[in-house]
Amino acid sequence: MLVQQILKSKSDDGVVTIAPDASLSEAARLLASRKIGAVVVSPDGKTVTGILSERDIVREIAAKGPGCLPEGIDAVMTRNIVTCSRDDTSDAVLGLMTQGRFRHLPVVDGAEMVGLISIGDVVKAQLATLAMEKEALEGMIKGF
Ligand code: AMP
Repeated sequence: MLVQQILKSKSDDGVVTIAPDASLSEAARLLASRKIGAVVVSPDGKTVTGILSERDIVREIAAKGPGCLPEGIDAVMTRNIVTCSRDDTSDAVLGLMTQGRFRHLPVVDGAEMVGLISIGDVVKAQLATLAMEKEALEGMIKGF
């Protein structure tokens, strides 16, 4: 399965982004209200400046205490981002996520972000494919 198909299977809400000058508490509120685990940091909703995960916020609070929450996200977010394209396979992106130990991948077309997939989206897509293959194989064996 291709990333393009995974994006199509998601509800088309667009990618949740946050401005680079936002605070950690604003980011935490956004993650909680949208029920997501990471937010793409972007000045315009299309250019990817960084990514901020709930793990980054937890690590910062563990290191500095809750007094860090009014501080900006720019010192905490990950800037060195791994991305994928619409033409990548689900196996390839799972490999990237496993190797990099992260659960989110912005999908880019050149310099522009066109979506975001999580490890949950990829696993769901893989399970759907496996279920279809199982049904087809059972049909062949049983002669349907
Ligand atoms: P996650 O498992 O995606 O919640 O993130 C775990 C760590 O990896 C956090 O420090 C994130 O900032 C970072 N991270 C998340 N997604 C990516 C990505 N696509 N490329 C690089 N780092 C990432």
